[in-house]
Amino acid sequence: MSQPVKLYNTLTRRKEPFEPINPPYVGLYVCGPTVYNYVHLGNVRTFLTFDTLFRYLTYVGYKVRYVRNITDVGHLVGDSDEGEDKIGRMAKLEKLEPMEIVQRYTNDFHQIMEIFNILPPSVEPTATGHMVEQIEAVKKLIAQGLAYESNGSVYFDINTYNREGGNYGKLSGRILDDLLNETRELDGQSEKRNPLDFAIWKNASPEHIMRWPSPWGDGFPGWHLECTCMSTKYLGSQFDIHGGGMDLKFPHHECEIAQGNALTGKDPVRYWMHSNMLTVNGQKMSKSLGNSFLPTELFTGNHPLLEQAYSPMTVRFFMLQSHYRSTLDFSNEALKAAQKGYKRLANGLRIVKSMAFIVEEGSVPDETHLAEIQKLRQGCFDAMNDDLNTAITIAHLFNLLKKINQLYMNQLQPSAVGQEAFNLLRDTFVGFTEDVLGLHEERNENGDALIDGMLDLYKEYKVQKQYDKVDQIRSYFKAQGLVIKDMKHRIDWAYEE
Ligand code: AMP
Ligand code: ZN
Repeated sequence: MSQPVKLYNTLTRRKEPFEPINPPYVGLYVCGPTVYNYVHLGNVRTFLTFDTLFRYLTYVGYKVRYVRNITDVGHLVGDSDEGEDKIGRMAKLEKLEPMEIVQRYTNDFHQIMEIFNILPPSVEPTATGHMVEQIEAVKKLIAQGLAYESNGSVYFDINTYNREGGNYGKLSGRILDDLLNETRELDGQSEKRNPLDFAIWKNASPEHIMRWPSPWGDGFPGWHLECTCMSTKYLGSQFDIHGGGMDLKFPHHECEIAQGNALTGKDPVRYWMHSNMLTVNGQKMSKSLGNSFLPTELFTGNHPLLEQAYSPMTVRFFMLQSHYRSTLDFSNEALKAAQKGYKRLANGLRIVKSMAFIVEEGSVPDETHLAEIQKLRQGCFDAMNDDLNTAITIAHLFNLLKKINQLYMNQLQPSAVGQEAFNLLRDTFVGFTEDVLGLHEERNENGDALIDGMLDLYKEYKVQKQYDKVDQIRSYFKAQGLVIKDMKHRIDWAYEE
């Protein structure tokens, strides 16, 4: 916890030292998926960013309560106040109950998160499970004069909110007049006093299937209000960090700030963090643009834009190599390079975890190794503290890897390095690679015995000079994405880089 973590706060537009309200506890809320379809790789990028934040804050000693919701109602097509509910629409198309749609895609989401080693949150609330809280919040906003009913829908009153000291637009930096000019054309929404007012409760038309009784008739909650109710219920009326994709900054998060202030008189969030978009040829990856990849397409290579299959950890490495606030463009070249990079780290993990490190009794280590390792370890912390610079952290890990490889290749002797330096090397390398960056070896644990057995056979055949058998075993390894490393001092296997 002595680490001064700095995070870029969208609200203040600068990097700030992170000071939790109630250390060592940290409240983190991230907008979860709208479960009407399979998650695409762009969605994965955002959840991976906040997984890395969750992991790092935990690594440096914070006790993080991580709330990531499931949006299972109220998110309308086009993210606006009009149009069909995304889930209701899919239910009609597939002739299923809305809750069947929700269950199917929630299951898929969980599976994909696990495949990418994205940790589950501490609480995963659903919008439909918090109807009471949302209706209460709407009642309160009406009672305060900050919301009004119109034809069975309830809208948040931006003009009154601003008149009473609110600052709608402060997160996104949008000027109210500009916003009005942008929206007037699309207007015609005569239910609203001001076209910028947003729905906190929507009246359900007769054909709308997802509906709940309320004091304003049958309806459903507004998408923005859901996150306000779920975040504050589990994290309090003011909490530390709120995250989501950059595209949620406006209007979704802007509306959350307005609602939070209106309900409690306090800014709901101290640090707003936004992860940038995964793009394809410069365009945001999205389902509606038809340029999205499903993770399964990536794992099989089965997509016209993919030159080969890529494993989950390769994709994770690819994403971590860019800074979360920069856009990241999908490319086969970058993914192929990521595959090499990831395999190198994975080989390092395997070696350093299984290394028999024997220091000769009475030997005196060369202190420069310890100093170098300490410097690289500090570099890893410094990079992560600098608004989660995962790319630089990876660069330091590769420098640590050089030492691991020198030990492995017998170019460096354990006695020269010393036990203390080795322990620090191993703990830093494994800790940052696995715990912080969430990169692990991709292998079937049960297969290890088989691989080791094959390697023993290889050694025997080599002694017997049965070279056809030796070649056969080599090609078996290759087919598994592995190579046999025939070194002077030992024979071993490794992930093919
Ligand atoms: P949704 O399921 O549409 O509500 O999106 C879930 C999360 O994925 C949100 O935080 C979005 O901002 C994020 N997201 C959507 N598209 C992309 C993209 N192309 N790159 C990164 N994040 C995205
Ligand atoms: Zn949200």
